[in-house]
Amino acid sequence: MELEKSKYKMVCELGACGRRADYSIRFARTGTKSNLNVCSECLKELARLAEQVNAAPADRTRSDARRKRGERE
Ligand SMILES: [Zn+2]
Repeated sequence: MELEKSKYKMVCELGACGRRADYSIRFARTGTKSNLNVCSECLKELARLAEQVNAAPADRTRSDARRKRGERE
């Protein structure tokens, strides 16, 4: 995914926002229909959500490694 400054006067497509889109997120290299236009406020909101994903603990892989270490044969 790539983020670029919106070249055209588009409207933010997130929810019922309706503000002017400052950026467009490009999902694929093909076609213009894979663009999502977002305003800077919604983009900040998305970034906040992304931080929550990053903050989520990755306990599963860690406990797996511990279990492997504990199994001595
Ligand atoms: Zn918006």
